[in-house]
Amino acid sequence: MTMLCVPITMRTPEQAFAEAAEAKSLGADIVEFRVDEFFSGDSASGESEAAAIVRTIAESPLPVILTCRIADEGGAYDGPEDARVSLFERVATGGSPPAYLDVELAAYTRSANFRQKVNLCVTHAKQVRDVPTRLILSSHDFQTRPPDLSRRMMAMYAEPACAVAKIAFRARSLRDNVELFELLRGAPKPTIALGMAEFGLMSRVLAPKFGGLLTFASLKRESATAPGQPTIREMLDLYRFRSIQASTKVYGVLGWPVGHSMSPLIHNAGFEAVGHDGVYLPMPVAPGENEDDARASFKATVEGVLRWPALDFAGASVTIPFKSCPRAGAEPFAMDADGLVTAAGAANTIAVAPDGWRLANTDVAGIVEPLREAFGELAGQMVVIWGGGGAARAAALGLTREGAGVRLTNRTASKAEAIAASIPGVRTISAQEARTSRARAHINTTPIGMTGGPAPDAMAIPVPELADADAGTVIFDTVYNPIETPTLKAARERGLRTIDGVRMFVTQAAAQFELWTGKPAPKQLFDRLMRETLAN
Ligand code: NAP
Repeated sequence: MTMLCVPITMRTPEQAFAEAAEAKSLGADIVEFRVDEFFSGDSASGESEAAAIVRTIAESPLPVILTCRIADEGGAYDGPEDARVSLFERVATGGSPPAYLDVELAAYTRSANFRQKVNLCVTHAKQVRDVPTRLILSSHDFQTRPPDLSRRMMAMYAEPACAVAKIAFRARSLRDNVELFELLRGAPKPTIALGMAEFGLMSRVLAPKFGGLLTFASLKRESATAPGQPTIREMLDLYRFRSIQASTKVYGVLGWPVGHSMSPLIHNAGFEAVGHDGVYLPMPVAPGENEDDARASFKATVEGVLRWPALDFAGASVTIPFKSCPRAGAEPFAMDADGLVTAAGAANTIAVAPDGWRLANTDVAGIVEPLREAFGELAGQMVVIWGGGGAARAAALGLTREGAGVRLTNRTASKAEAIAASIPGVRTISAQEARTSRARAHINTTPIGMTGGPAPDAMAIPVPELADADAGTVIFDTVYNPIETPTLKAARERGLRTIDGVRMFVTQAAAQFELWTGKPAPKQLFDRLMRETLAN
Protein backbone atom coordinates (compact mmCIF):
# COMPACT_ATOMS: atom_id res chain seq x y z
CA MET A 1 0.00 0.00 0.00
CA THR A 2 1.28 3.44 -0.91
CA MET A 3 1.54 5.61 2.19
CA LEU A 4 0.31 9.17 2.44
CA CYS A 5 2.99 11.28 4.11
CA VAL A 6 2.49 14.76 5.53
CA PRO A 7 5.70 16.80 5.67
CA ILE A 8 6.01 18.96 8.79
CA THR A 9 8.54 21.75 9.02
CA MET A 10 9.52 21.66 12.67
CA ARG A 11 9.79 25.06 14.34
CA THR A 12 9.10 23.96 17.89
CA PRO A 13 8.50 20.47 19.32
CA GLU A 14 4.97 21.50 20.35
CA GLN A 15 4.05 22.73 16.87
CA ALA A 16 5.50 19.61 15.22
CA PHE A 17 3.60 17.35 17.61
CA ALA A 18 0.33 19.25 17.09
CA GLU A 19 0.69 19.06 13.31
CA ALA A 20 1.49 15.34 13.46
CA ALA A 21 -1.68 14.82 15.51
CA GLU A 22 -3.67 16.82 12.96
CA ALA A 23 -2.12 14.81 10.09
CA LYS A 24 -3.22 11.62 11.82
CA SER A 25 -6.74 12.89 12.37
CA LEU A 26 -6.99 13.83 8.68
CA GLY A 27 -5.93 10.35 7.56
CA ALA A 28 -2.16 10.44 6.97
CA ASP A 29 -0.12 7.24 7.39
CA ILE A 30 3.22 8.80 8.24
CA VAL A 31 4.81 12.21 8.81
CA GLU A 32 8.12 13.62 7.70
CA PHE A 33 9.74 15.84 10.31
CA ARG A 34 11.77 18.37 8.39
CA VAL A 35 14.13 19.58 11.11
CA ASP A 36 16.50 21.61 8.95
CA GLU A 37 15.09 24.97 10.12
CA PHE A 38 15.00 23.89 13.76
CA PHE A 39 18.39 22.18 13.99
CA SER A 40 21.19 24.73 13.66
CA GLY A 41 24.12 22.39 14.17
CA ASP A 42 25.70 25.01 16.50
CA SER A 43 28.00 23.57 19.13
CA ALA A 44 26.18 25.68 21.77
CA SER A 45 22.56 24.86 20.97
CA GLY A 46 22.86 21.66 18.92
CA GLU A 47 22.68 19.39 21.94
CA SER A 48 19.35 20.70 23.24
CA GLU A 49 17.88 20.89 19.73
CA ALA A 50 18.82 17.24 19.15
CA ALA A 51 17.24 16.25 22.48
CA ALA A 52 14.01 18.02 21.51
CA ILE A 53 13.96 16.24 18.14
CA VAL A 54 14.49 12.85 19.80
CA ARG A 55 11.59 13.58 22.17
CA THR A 56 9.28 14.75 19.40
CA ILE A 57 9.93 11.61 17.35
CA ALA A 58 9.24 9.44 20.42
CA GLU A 59 5.93 11.22 21.06
CA SER A 60 4.76 11.39 17.46
CA PRO A 61 1.34 9.80 16.94
CA LEU A 62 2.44 8.57 13.50
CA PRO A 63 5.61 6.87 12.24
CA VAL A 64 8.28 9.40 11.34
CA ILE A 65 10.67 10.08 8.49
CA LEU A 66 13.48 12.24 9.84
CA THR A 67 14.94 14.69 7.35
CA CYS A 68 17.49 17.42 7.93
CA ARG A 69 17.72 18.68 4.36
CA ILE A 70 20.83 20.48 3.20
CA ALA A 71 20.61 23.78 1.34
CA ASP A 72 21.96 22.23 -1.91
CA GLU A 73 18.82 20.13 -2.19
CA GLY A 74 16.19 22.67 -1.25
CA GLY A 75 16.56 22.50 2.55
CA ALA A 76 17.58 25.02 5.19
CA TYR A 77 20.44 23.19 6.91
CA ASP A 78 23.78 24.86 6.36
CA GLY A 79 25.64 23.70 9.48
CA PRO A 80 28.55 21.28 9.60
CA GLU A 81 28.06 17.69 8.43
CA ASP A 82 29.59 16.42 11.68
CA ALA A 83 26.79 18.04 13.65
CA ARG A 84 24.20 16.54 11.31
CA VAL A 85 25.66 13.06 11.80
CA SER A 86 25.67 13.63 15.57
CA LEU A 87 21.96 14.40 15.34
CA PHE A 88 21.39 11.16 13.44
CA GLU A 89 23.39 9.26 16.07
CA ARG A 90 21.34 10.79 18.90
CA VAL A 91 18.13 9.88 17.14
CA ALA A 92 19.27 6.34 16.30
CA THR A 93 20.23 5.56 19.85
CA GLY A 94 17.44 7.52 21.51
CA GLY A 95 15.15 4.61 22.35
CA SER A 96 12.48 5.39 19.79
CA PRO A 97 14.24 5.91 16.47
CA PRO A 98 12.33 7.09 13.39
CA ALA A 99 10.89 4.66 10.87
CA TYR A 100 13.00 6.23 8.13
CA LEU A 101 16.05 8.45 7.93
CA ASP A 102 16.31 10.51 4.73
CA VAL A 103 19.82 11.41 3.56
CA GLU A 104 20.72 12.99 0.24
CA LEU A 105 22.55 10.71 -2.17
CA ALA A 106 24.94 13.56 -2.99
CA ALA A 107 25.98 14.04 0.65
CA TYR A 108 26.14 10.30 1.23
CA THR A 109 28.49 9.66 -1.68
CA ARG A 110 30.61 12.80 -1.12
CA SER A 111 32.30 11.57 2.04
CA ALA A 112 33.22 8.01 3.02
CA ASN A 113 33.25 9.09 6.66
CA PHE A 114 29.71 10.54 6.50
CA ARG A 115 28.47 7.46 4.70
CA GLN A 116 30.00 5.09 7.24
CA LYS A 117 28.48 7.02 10.14
CA VAL A 118 25.04 7.12 8.55
CA ASN A 119 25.24 3.36 7.96
CA LEU A 120 26.16 2.87 11.61
CA CYS A 121 23.15 4.95 12.71
CA VAL A 122 20.81 2.74 10.74
CA THR A 123 22.42 -0.38 12.22
CA HIS A 124 22.21 1.06 15.76
CA ALA A 125 18.57 1.88 15.31
CA LYS A 126 17.93 -1.65 14.17
CA GLN A 127 19.18 -2.88 17.52
CA VAL A 128 16.86 -0.65 19.57
CA ARG A 129 13.65 -1.26 17.72
CA ASP A 130 11.78 -4.28 16.44
CA VAL A 131 11.09 -2.45 13.23
CA PRO A 132 14.39 -1.04 11.99
CA THR A 133 15.01 2.49 10.82
CA ARG A 134 15.30 2.34 7.05
CA LEU A 135 17.61 4.56 5.09
CA ILE A 136 16.07 6.63 2.31
CA LEU A 137 18.66 7.88 -0.13
CA SER A 138 17.18 10.87 -1.91
CA SER A 139 17.95 13.09 -4.84
CA HIS A 140 16.22 16.36 -5.79
CA ASP A 141 16.35 18.76 -8.68
CA PHE A 142 14.14 21.84 -8.33
CA GLN A 143 14.98 23.10 -11.83
CA THR A 144 14.57 20.24 -14.26
CA ARG A 145 14.91 16.52 -14.92
CA PRO A 146 18.48 15.68 -13.95
CA PRO A 147 20.45 14.61 -17.03
CA ASP A 148 22.09 11.81 -15.01
CA LEU A 149 18.81 10.44 -13.67
CA SER A 150 19.64 6.79 -14.44
CA ARG A 151 23.05 7.08 -12.85
CA ARG A 152 21.51 8.48 -9.67
CA MET A 153 18.95 5.71 -9.49
CA MET A 154 21.58 3.03 -10.08
CA ALA A 155 23.77 4.53 -7.34
CA MET A 156 20.90 4.41 -4.84
CA TYR A 157 19.93 0.87 -5.74
CA ALA A 158 23.54 -0.32 -5.64
CA GLU A 159 24.06 0.87 -2.06
CA PRO A 160 23.37 -2.05 0.31
CA ALA A 161 22.34 0.25 3.20
CA CYS A 162 19.75 2.00 1.04
CA ALA A 163 16.30 0.62 1.81
CA VAL A 164 14.36 3.20 -0.20
CA ALA A 165 15.33 5.27 -3.24
CA LYS A 166 13.73 8.69 -3.60
CA ILE A 167 13.88 10.88 -6.68
CA ALA A 168 12.06 14.20 -7.04
CA PHE A 169 12.56 16.67 -9.85
CA ARG A 170 10.70 19.50 -11.50
CA ALA A 171 8.59 17.99 -14.25
CA ARG A 172 8.89 19.88 -17.55
CA SER A 173 5.74 18.45 -19.09
CA LEU A 174 3.27 15.61 -18.52
CA ARG A 175 5.75 13.30 -20.27
CA ASP A 176 8.12 13.39 -17.31
CA ASN A 177 5.48 11.58 -15.27
CA VAL A 178 5.74 8.60 -17.59
CA GLU A 179 9.45 8.30 -16.88
CA LEU A 180 8.74 8.45 -13.14
CA PHE A 181 6.11 5.73 -13.48
CA GLU A 182 8.54 3.60 -15.51
CA LEU A 183 11.03 3.96 -12.65
CA LEU A 184 8.47 2.75 -10.15
CA ARG A 185 7.44 -0.17 -12.33
CA GLY A 186 11.00 -1.42 -12.77
CA ALA A 187 12.26 -0.59 -9.28
CA PRO A 188 14.37 -3.28 -7.56
CA LYS A 189 13.78 -1.59 -4.16
CA PRO A 190 10.94 0.42 -2.63
CA THR A 191 10.98 3.75 -4.45
CA ILE A 192 9.51 7.23 -4.18
CA ALA A 193 9.42 8.95 -7.59
CA LEU A 194 7.74 12.35 -7.75
CA GLY A 195 7.48 15.21 -10.20
CA MET A 196 7.43 18.73 -8.83
CA ALA A 197 5.34 21.74 -9.89
CA GLU A 198 2.12 21.66 -11.89
CA PHE A 199 3.20 19.12 -14.51
CA GLY A 200 4.14 16.63 -11.78
CA LEU A 201 0.79 16.36 -9.99
CA MET A 202 -0.03 13.18 -11.89
CA SER A 203 3.01 11.39 -10.40
CA ARG A 204 1.92 12.37 -6.89
CA VAL A 205 -1.71 11.27 -7.22
CA LEU A 206 -1.04 8.10 -9.22
CA ALA A 207 1.77 6.81 -6.97
CA PRO A 208 -0.53 3.98 -5.70
CA LYS A 209 -1.27 2.88 -9.26
CA PHE A 210 2.41 2.30 -9.97
CA GLY A 211 3.47 1.04 -6.55
CA GLY A 212 5.31 4.06 -5.13
CA LEU A 213 6.24 3.63 -1.48
CA LEU A 214 4.68 6.94 -0.53
CA THR A 215 3.51 10.29 -1.75
CA PHE A 216 3.49 13.62 0.04
CA ALA A 217 0.54 15.87 0.84
CA SER A 218 0.70 19.03 2.92
CA LEU A 219 -1.55 19.95 5.82
CA LYS A 220 -2.24 23.33 4.24
CA ARG A 221 -1.36 24.90 0.92
CA GLU A 222 1.18 27.17 2.62
CA SER A 223 2.91 24.34 4.48
CA ALA A 224 3.85 22.45 1.28
CA THR A 225 7.53 21.55 1.21
CA ALA A 226 7.79 21.24 -2.57
CA PRO A 227 6.13 23.02 -5.49
CA GLY A 228 2.97 21.31 -6.69
CA GLN A 229 2.41 19.31 -3.52
CA PRO A 230 -1.36 18.90 -3.04
CA THR A 231 -2.99 19.20 0.36
CA ILE A 232 -4.05 16.09 2.24
CA ARG A 233 -7.71 17.06 1.82
CA GLU A 234 -7.26 17.36 -1.94
CA MET A 235 -5.49 14.02 -2.06
CA LEU A 236 -8.11 12.17 -0.01
CA ASP A 237 -11.34 13.97 -0.90
CA LEU A 238 -10.80 15.41 -4.38
CA TYR A 239 -8.60 12.69 -5.92
CA ARG A 240 -9.87 9.82 -3.72
CA PHE A 241 -6.33 8.63 -3.08
CA ARG A 242 -7.43 5.54 -1.12
CA SER A 243 -9.40 4.22 -4.07
CA ILE A 244 -6.52 4.41 -6.55
CA GLN A 245 -5.13 1.01 -7.42
CA ALA A 246 -3.30 -0.71 -10.26
CA SER A 247 -6.50 -1.12 -12.27
CA THR A 248 -7.68 2.49 -11.91
CA LYS A 249 -8.48 4.20 -15.21
CA VAL A 250 -7.10 7.67 -15.75
CA TYR A 251 -9.06 10.68 -17.03
CA GLY A 252 -8.28 14.36 -17.07
CA VAL A 253 -8.73 17.83 -18.45
CA LEU A 254 -6.22 18.78 -21.16
CA GLY A 255 -5.76 22.52 -21.46
CA TRP A 256 -3.84 25.60 -20.39
CA PRO A 257 -4.33 26.73 -17.74
CA VAL A 258 -6.24 23.95 -15.95
CA GLY A 259 -5.33 24.59 -12.31
CA HIS A 260 -8.72 26.14 -11.54
CA SER A 261 -10.85 23.77 -13.60
CA MET A 262 -13.94 22.50 -11.82
CA SER A 263 -13.98 19.29 -13.84
CA PRO A 264 -11.80 17.25 -11.40
CA LEU A 265 -14.20 18.13 -8.58
CA ILE A 266 -17.33 16.94 -10.31
CA HIS A 267 -15.99 13.97 -12.25
CA ASN A 268 -14.15 12.45 -9.28
CA ALA A 269 -17.26 12.86 -7.14
CA GLY A 270 -19.26 11.29 -9.96
CA PHE A 271 -16.91 8.28 -10.18
CA GLU A 272 -17.34 7.82 -6.44
CA ALA A 273 -21.12 8.09 -6.68
CA VAL A 274 -21.48 5.43 -9.40
CA GLY A 275 -18.62 3.20 -8.17
CA HIS A 276 -16.39 3.72 -11.22
CA ASP A 277 -12.74 2.74 -10.82
CA GLY A 278 -11.33 5.97 -12.24
CA VAL A 279 -9.53 9.14 -11.26
CA TYR A 280 -9.73 12.51 -13.02
CA LEU A 281 -6.76 14.89 -12.99
CA PRO A 282 -5.77 18.31 -14.27
CA MET A 283 -3.51 17.63 -17.27
CA PRO A 284 -1.73 20.87 -18.17
CA VAL A 285 -0.27 21.09 -21.67
CA ALA A 286 1.91 24.12 -22.49
CA PRO A 287 0.50 25.76 -25.62
CA GLY A 288 3.71 27.43 -26.89
CA GLU A 289 3.70 30.60 -28.95
CA ASN A 290 1.17 29.91 -31.67
CA GLU A 291 -1.37 27.45 -33.06
CA ASP A 292 1.29 25.23 -34.64
CA ASP A 293 3.10 24.97 -31.30
CA ALA A 294 -0.17 24.11 -29.56
CA ARG A 295 -0.92 21.33 -32.03
CA ALA A 296 2.61 19.93 -31.73
CA SER A 297 2.43 20.03 -27.94
CA PHE A 298 -0.97 18.36 -27.92
CA LYS A 299 0.20 15.64 -30.32
CA ALA A 300 3.30 14.97 -28.22
CA THR A 301 1.10 14.59 -25.14
CA VAL A 302 -1.17 12.16 -26.92
CA GLU A 303 1.70 10.06 -28.21
CA GLY A 304 4.05 10.25 -25.24
CA VAL A 305 1.59 10.13 -22.35
CA LEU A 306 -1.99 9.22 -23.19
CA ARG A 307 -1.09 6.38 -25.54
CA TRP A 308 1.32 4.82 -23.03
CA PRO A 309 -0.58 1.58 -22.33
CA ALA A 310 0.29 1.29 -18.63
CA LEU A 311 -1.41 4.63 -17.87
CA ASP A 312 -4.85 3.12 -18.62
CA PHE A 313 -5.90 6.47 -20.05
CA ALA A 314 -9.63 6.25 -20.66
CA GLY A 315 -10.82 9.74 -21.53
CA ALA A 316 -10.38 13.48 -21.31
CA SER A 317 -12.08 16.81 -21.44
CA VAL A 318 -10.32 19.14 -23.85
CA THR A 319 -10.43 22.84 -23.16
CA ILE A 320 -8.91 26.15 -24.26
CA PRO A 321 -6.72 26.42 -26.33
CA PHE A 322 -6.79 22.86 -27.62
CA LYS A 323 -10.38 22.24 -28.69
CA SER A 324 -9.38 22.30 -32.34
CA CYS A 325 -6.40 19.99 -31.74
CA PRO A 326 -7.76 16.51 -31.00
CA ARG A 327 -8.52 15.75 -34.63
CA ALA A 328 -4.94 16.53 -35.64
CA GLY A 329 -3.43 15.15 -32.45
CA ALA A 330 -5.31 11.91 -32.33
CA GLU A 331 -5.40 10.94 -35.98
CA PRO A 332 -5.37 8.27 -37.30
CA PHE A 333 -6.93 6.39 -34.42
CA ALA A 334 -9.75 8.72 -33.39
CA MET A 335 -13.30 8.64 -34.68
CA ASP A 336 -15.81 11.45 -34.74
CA ALA A 337 -18.61 9.75 -32.83
CA ASP A 338 -21.56 11.62 -34.31
CA GLY A 339 -20.19 13.97 -36.97
CA LEU A 340 -20.46 16.96 -34.64
CA VAL A 341 -16.72 17.30 -34.18
CA THR A 342 -16.11 17.60 -37.89
CA ALA A 343 -18.99 20.04 -38.31
CA ALA A 344 -17.97 22.14 -35.29
CA GLY A 345 -14.24 21.94 -36.07
CA ALA A 346 -13.71 21.31 -32.38
CA ALA A 347 -13.78 18.47 -29.86
CA ASN A 348 -14.10 18.93 -26.11
CA THR A 349 -14.10 15.20 -25.33
CA ILE A 350 -11.92 12.15 -25.90
CA ALA A 351 -13.32 8.76 -24.90
CA VAL A 352 -11.26 5.60 -25.21
CA ALA A 353 -13.29 2.62 -26.42
CA PRO A 354 -12.07 -0.96 -27.03
CA ASP A 355 -11.93 -0.33 -30.77
CA GLY A 356 -10.22 3.08 -30.64
CA TRP A 357 -10.64 6.64 -29.54
CA ARG A 358 -13.88 8.55 -29.94
CA LEU A 359 -14.00 12.32 -30.19
CA ALA A 360 -17.11 14.24 -29.24
CA ASN A 361 -18.34 17.78 -28.82
CA THR A 362 -20.58 17.83 -25.76
CA ASP A 363 -20.67 21.66 -25.68
CA VAL A 364 -23.40 21.30 -28.30
CA ALA A 365 -25.55 19.25 -25.90
CA GLY A 366 -24.61 21.70 -23.12
CA ILE A 367 -26.41 24.45 -25.03
CA VAL A 368 -29.18 22.54 -26.76
CA GLU A 369 -30.48 20.42 -23.87
CA PRO A 370 -31.28 23.27 -21.42
CA LEU A 371 -33.04 25.15 -24.24
CA ARG A 372 -34.99 22.06 -25.24
CA GLU A 373 -36.12 21.70 -21.65
CA ALA A 374 -37.18 25.36 -21.61
CA PHE A 375 -39.15 25.23 -24.87
CA GLY A 376 -40.12 21.58 -25.18
CA GLU A 377 -39.58 21.82 -28.94
CA LEU A 378 -36.88 23.91 -30.59
CA ALA A 379 -38.02 23.57 -34.18
CA GLY A 380 -39.29 26.91 -35.42
CA GLN A 381 -37.95 28.93 -32.46
CA MET A 382 -35.80 31.96 -33.26
CA VAL A 383 -32.56 32.26 -31.28
CA VAL A 384 -29.98 35.05 -31.29
CA ILE A 385 -26.41 34.08 -30.47
CA TRP A 386 -24.12 36.84 -29.20
CA GLY A 387 -20.48 36.04 -30.09
CA GLY A 388 -18.65 34.33 -32.91
CA GLY A 389 -16.11 31.93 -31.37
CA GLY A 390 -16.12 28.21 -30.62
CA ALA A 391 -19.11 28.27 -28.27
CA ALA A 392 -21.12 30.30 -30.78
CA ARG A 393 -20.35 27.78 -33.50
CA ALA A 394 -21.34 24.86 -31.24
CA ALA A 395 -24.60 26.65 -30.36
CA ALA A 396 -25.40 27.47 -33.98
CA LEU A 397 -24.72 23.92 -35.08
CA GLY A 398 -26.82 22.29 -32.35
CA LEU A 399 -29.74 24.67 -32.70
CA THR A 400 -29.99 24.44 -36.49
CA ARG A 401 -29.90 20.64 -36.20
CA GLU A 402 -32.94 20.96 -33.95
CA GLY A 403 -34.69 23.08 -36.57
CA ALA A 404 -34.35 26.42 -34.77
CA GLY A 405 -33.70 29.62 -36.70
CA VAL A 406 -30.34 31.12 -35.69
CA ARG A 407 -29.16 34.72 -35.90
CA LEU A 408 -25.59 35.53 -35.04
CA THR A 409 -24.13 38.85 -33.94
CA ASN A 410 -20.48 39.35 -33.14
CA ARG A 411 -17.98 42.15 -32.52
CA THR A 412 -15.93 40.94 -35.49
CA ALA A 413 -18.55 40.52 -38.20
CA SER A 414 -16.30 38.42 -40.45
CA LYS A 415 -16.10 35.65 -37.83
CA ALA A 416 -19.87 35.48 -37.56
CA GLU A 417 -20.11 35.44 -41.35
CA ALA A 418 -17.69 32.50 -41.53
CA ILE A 419 -19.92 30.50 -39.19
CA ALA A 420 -23.04 31.46 -41.14
CA ALA A 421 -21.39 30.43 -44.39
CA SER A 422 -20.62 26.96 -43.09
CA ILE A 423 -23.90 26.16 -41.27
CA PRO A 424 -27.13 26.28 -43.30
CA GLY A 425 -29.93 28.12 -41.49
CA VAL A 426 -27.64 30.65 -39.74
CA ARG A 427 -27.73 34.35 -40.65
CA THR A 428 -25.71 37.23 -39.31
CA ILE A 429 -27.31 40.39 -37.98
CA SER A 430 -26.05 43.61 -36.36
CA ALA A 431 -26.27 44.21 -32.63
CA GLN A 432 -28.98 46.78 -33.33
CA GLU A 433 -31.00 44.24 -35.30
CA ALA A 434 -30.51 41.75 -32.46
CA ARG A 435 -32.13 44.24 -30.05
CA THR A 436 -35.29 44.41 -32.11
CA SER A 437 -35.43 40.80 -33.27
CA ARG A 438 -38.38 38.70 -32.20
CA ALA A 439 -36.10 36.00 -30.85
CA ARG A 440 -37.50 33.67 -28.19
CA ALA A 441 -34.01 33.14 -26.77
CA HIS A 442 -30.73 35.04 -26.60
CA ILE A 443 -27.47 33.26 -25.79
CA ASN A 444 -24.27 34.95 -24.68
CA THR A 445 -21.18 33.09 -25.89
CA THR A 446 -18.65 35.86 -25.19
CA PRO A 447 -16.61 36.16 -21.98
CA ILE A 448 -18.29 39.49 -21.14
CA GLY A 449 -19.54 39.39 -17.53
CA MET A 450 -17.03 36.73 -16.50
CA THR A 451 -14.97 37.21 -13.34
CA GLY A 452 -11.45 38.02 -14.45
CA GLY A 453 -12.61 38.47 -18.07
CA PRO A 454 -12.40 41.51 -20.35
CA ALA A 455 -15.55 43.23 -18.97
CA PRO A 456 -16.70 41.59 -15.72
CA ASP A 457 -19.30 44.26 -14.89
CA ALA A 458 -20.78 44.64 -18.35
CA MET A 459 -23.91 43.09 -19.82
CA ALA A 460 -23.10 40.83 -22.76
CA ILE A 461 -26.68 41.08 -23.98
CA PRO A 462 -28.39 44.51 -23.62
CA VAL A 463 -31.36 42.99 -21.82
CA PRO A 464 -33.21 46.25 -20.95
CA GLU A 465 -33.11 47.23 -24.63
CA LEU A 466 -34.54 44.00 -26.10
CA ALA A 467 -37.68 45.34 -27.76
CA ASP A 468 -39.75 42.19 -28.01
CA ALA A 469 -38.72 40.28 -24.88
CA ASP A 470 -41.54 39.04 -22.65
CA ALA A 471 -42.03 36.56 -19.82
CA GLY A 472 -41.54 33.66 -22.25
CA THR A 473 -38.16 34.88 -23.53
CA VAL A 474 -35.11 32.93 -22.38
CA ILE A 475 -31.77 34.61 -21.65
CA PHE A 476 -28.97 32.03 -21.59
CA ASP A 477 -25.50 33.02 -20.41
CA THR A 478 -22.75 30.44 -21.03
CA VAL A 479 -20.47 32.23 -18.54
CA TYR A 480 -20.65 30.37 -15.20
CA ASN A 481 -18.44 32.45 -12.94
CA PRO A 482 -20.22 34.33 -11.46
CA ILE A 483 -23.33 32.18 -11.54
CA GLU A 484 -25.51 35.25 -11.93
CA THR A 485 -23.80 37.47 -14.48
CA PRO A 486 -24.83 41.09 -15.10
CA THR A 487 -26.80 39.82 -18.11
CA LEU A 488 -28.72 37.26 -16.05
CA LYS A 489 -29.32 39.76 -13.24
CA ALA A 490 -30.89 42.17 -15.72
CA ALA A 491 -33.01 39.34 -17.15
CA ARG A 492 -34.23 38.32 -13.72
CA GLU A 493 -35.08 41.92 -12.86
CA ARG A 494 -37.06 42.22 -16.11
CA GLY A 495 -38.94 39.01 -15.32
CA LEU A 496 -37.47 36.95 -18.20
CA ARG A 497 -36.59 33.26 -17.98
CA THR A 498 -32.89 32.51 -17.42
CA ILE A 499 -30.44 29.65 -17.97
CA ASP A 500 -27.02 30.02 -16.39
CA GLY A 501 -23.58 28.73 -17.41
CA VAL A 502 -23.56 26.13 -14.64
CA ARG A 503 -26.43 24.37 -16.45
CA MET A 504 -24.33 24.28 -19.59
CA PHE A 505 -21.23 23.09 -17.78
CA VAL A 506 -23.09 20.35 -15.94
CA THR A 507 -24.89 19.20 -19.10
CA GLN A 508 -21.71 18.97 -21.19
CA ALA A 509 -19.86 17.27 -18.32
CA ALA A 510 -22.68 14.77 -17.83
CA ALA A 511 -22.53 13.83 -21.51
CA GLN A 512 -18.77 13.24 -21.17
CA PHE A 513 -19.25 11.18 -18.02
CA GLU A 514 -21.79 8.97 -19.75
CA LEU A 515 -19.47 8.38 -22.71
CA TRP A 516 -16.67 7.37 -20.32
CA THR A 517 -18.53 5.23 -17.81
CA GLY A 518 -21.60 4.04 -19.71
CA LYS A 519 -23.61 5.04 -16.64
CA PRO A 520 -26.08 7.89 -16.08
CA ALA A 521 -24.27 10.92 -14.70
CA PRO A 522 -25.25 12.18 -11.23
CA LYS A 523 -26.24 15.58 -12.61
CA GLN A 524 -27.75 16.87 -9.38
CA LEU A 525 -24.51 16.12 -7.57
CA PHE A 526 -22.50 17.92 -10.28
CA ASP A 527 -24.85 20.89 -10.07
CA ARG A 528 -24.72 21.10 -6.28
CA LEU A 529 -20.93 20.83 -6.13
CA MET A 530 -20.45 23.55 -8.72
CA ARG A 531 -22.92 25.94 -7.14
CA GLU A 532 -21.48 25.41 -3.66
CA THR A 533 -17.94 25.96 -4.88
CA LEU A 534 -18.75 29.02 -6.97
CA ALA A 535 -20.72 30.55 -4.11
CA ASN A 536 -17.63 30.50 -1.86
P1 NAP B 1 -13.66 32.12 -28.22
O1 NAP B 1 -13.63 31.12 -29.33
O2 NAP B 1 -12.42 32.81 -27.84
O3 NAP B 1 -14.73 33.24 -28.65
C1 NAP B 1 -14.98 34.35 -27.85
C2 NAP B 1 -15.98 35.26 -28.50
O4 NAP B 1 -16.24 36.34 -27.62
C3 NAP B 1 -15.49 35.87 -29.82
O5 NAP B 1 -16.57 35.93 -30.71
C4 NAP B 1 -15.07 37.28 -29.40
O6 NAP B 1 -15.27 38.25 -30.39
C5 NAP B 1 -16.04 37.57 -28.29
N1 NAP B 1 -15.49 38.55 -27.36
C6 NAP B 1 -14.42 38.38 -26.55
N2 NAP B 1 -14.22 39.49 -25.81
C7 NAP B 1 -15.18 40.38 -26.20
C8 NAP B 1 -15.47 41.71 -25.84
N3 NAP B 1 -14.76 42.35 -24.90
N4 NAP B 1 -16.52 42.31 -26.42
C9 NAP B 1 -17.24 41.68 -27.37
N5 NAP B 1 -17.00 40.42 -27.77
C10 NAP B 1 -15.98 39.78 -27.19
O7 NAP B 1 -14.25 31.49 -26.92
P2 NAP B 1 -15.34 30.32 -26.77
O8 NAP B 1 -14.67 29.02 -26.71
O9 NAP B 1 -16.38 30.53 -27.80
O10 NAP B 1 -15.92 30.63 -25.31
C11 NAP B 1 -16.60 31.84 -25.07
C12 NAP B 1 -17.21 31.83 -23.68
O11 NAP B 1 -18.14 30.78 -23.59
C13 NAP B 1 -16.19 31.55 -22.57
O12 NAP B 1 -15.71 32.75 -22.03
C14 NAP B 1 -16.96 30.76 -21.55
O13 NAP B 1 -17.38 31.62 -20.50
C15 NAP B 1 -18.18 30.28 -22.29
N6 NAP B 1 -18.21 28.81 -22.30
C16 NAP B 1 -18.91 28.19 -21.30
C17 NAP B 1 -18.99 26.83 -21.25
C18 NAP B 1 -19.78 26.18 -20.15
O14 NAP B 1 -19.73 24.95 -20.04
N7 NAP B 1 -20.56 26.92 -19.38
C19 NAP B 1 -18.35 26.04 -22.21
C20 NAP B 1 -17.64 26.70 -23.24
C21 NAP B 1 -17.57 28.08 -23.27
P3 NAP B 1 -14.26 38.45 -31.62
O15 NAP B 1 -14.65 37.38 -32.60
O16 NAP B 1 -14.56 39.82 -32.08
O17 NAP B 1 -12.87 38.26 -31.09
